[in-house]
Amino acid sequence: MAYETVIGLEIHLELATRSKLFCGCSAAFGAEPNTNCCPVCLGLPGTLPVFNRRAIEYAVQAALALNSAVQEESRFDRKNYFYPDLPKAYQISQYDRPLARGGHLDVAFPEGARRIRLERVHLEEEAGKLLHAGDSILGAAYSLVDYNRAGIPLLEIVTAPELHSGRDARIFLEALRELLLYTGVSDVKMEEGSLRCDANISLRPAGTAGLGTKTEVKNMNSFRAVEQALNFEAARQAAILARGQKVVQETCHWDEERKATVPFRRKEGSSDYRYFPEPDLLPLVLDRAFIEAQREKLPEPPERRRRRLQEQYGLEPREVAVLTATKALADFFEAAARDYRDYRGLANWVQGDLLYQLRETGTLVEDLDPRLLVELLELLDAGEINRPVAKELLAEVLKTGTGPRALVQSGGRGRIAGRASLEPLVEQAIAANPEAVESFRKGKEKALAFMVGQVMALTRGRADPQELNRLFREKLN
Ligand SMILES: [Zn+2]
Repeated sequence: MAYETVIGLEIHLELATRSKLFCGCSAAFGAEPNTNCCPVCLGLPGTLPVFNRRAIEYAVQAALALNSAVQEESRFDRKNYFYPDLPKAYQISQYDRPLARGGHLDVAFPEGARRIRLERVHLEEEAGKLLHAGDSILGAAYSLVDYNRAGIPLLEIVTAPELHSGRDARIFLEALRELLLYTGVSDVKMEEGSLRCDANISLRPAGTAGLGTKTEVKNMNSFRAVEQALNFEAARQAAILARGQKVVQETCHWDEERKATVPFRRKEGSSDYRYFPEPDLLPLVLDRAFIEAQREKLPEPPERRRRRLQEQYGLEPREVAVLTATKALADFFEAAARDYRDYRGLANWVQGDLLYQLRETGTLVEDLDPRLLVELLELLDAGEINRPVAKELLAEVLKTGTGPRALVQSGGRGRIAGRASLEPLVEQAIAANPEAVESFRKGKEKALAFMVGQVMALTRGRADPQELNRLFREKLN
């Protein structure tokens, strides 16, 4: 029998607040273990949680960006379970009254755009982090616990079961990551754990609408792992069904080494968690004005910005895709385009030499003043410098922060043009390259390019190549 895979994702996103959700401890990544803790996030008796306003603003912004309906009143509950990474033995989460309901994300799959619906978006606190000896939870002799992470604000986003392959899930997550990066509410780094994803996956006979028994897949630590794990798990379930057996509802771990999903515990039902309202927090009441104020703070979403950039600047989709890869780069381009009207030329520089030099020098685009690139392009357009010099100058601007005009004025960069300056150089090249002169006279155009290249190298790219060409022809014919 042919089966269809049905996947729903549960995404956890750490919000980029400076402090934790209910206390003033730092939420920074990478501190010494157990140094960012206090009685509140360690759950010591007699402490009370206090909301972090910024966390609520970020959560509302993310929910609005995901087209989810932010509720004017939501509530926090205790999710009770024991696990060593949870100091209170309960997690403050949201259960039947989440922050936001519904929502969707329009995702561009290679075969066409499809709307993936969301079920809910809610706010909760992060648990601590367990470090397993030997890195694997299965068969570790002991584990260490770091409570620095306990209490960091965490947004949970639950999709409808509308994804149908590991590839679908990966593409969805990439689109989600891009959108959330644009909003700036999280740094969305899968490798640092600020974006994590679990999946519910089941099979059903192709063409039917019901849902089969699902398993939950955890421990997928990269986009690639999500794709591989879900494809593996779909095949594992298909093999069970083909043998006439039943899939057991359980939680599986993705084993990155073995490239396999490994069942490791029976899945709990929500009743096992004994949810009850958190007695130490009032319901979260948000008025319309607060919610609308958060909407105002949202930037233009990446998909809309791509369309606008194409129309407004007359650029190709593939150019725009590069320019909008991050919000910072798109902001840079548009800021430069206010002062420089050759948009296509500007786009070429930004996506070519600028991106290359940013990588080479380890500079962030947000640290470069767009006016400096414009100044460089104006020098180039005015013929004051040549292209190779412009490239060199760009690298120097990034390294030193000095403007290109100042660098040119400091000497040795200006373009060398005019017969008086170039003629001696041409004569020198002719004298030094008799073989090239001979081949050119026999009709080999390449020999001319070689001699021009010699002079360009000698002047470190400052000579005017057109004028050199003319002079060489004049002398040799
Ligand atoms: Zn704390």
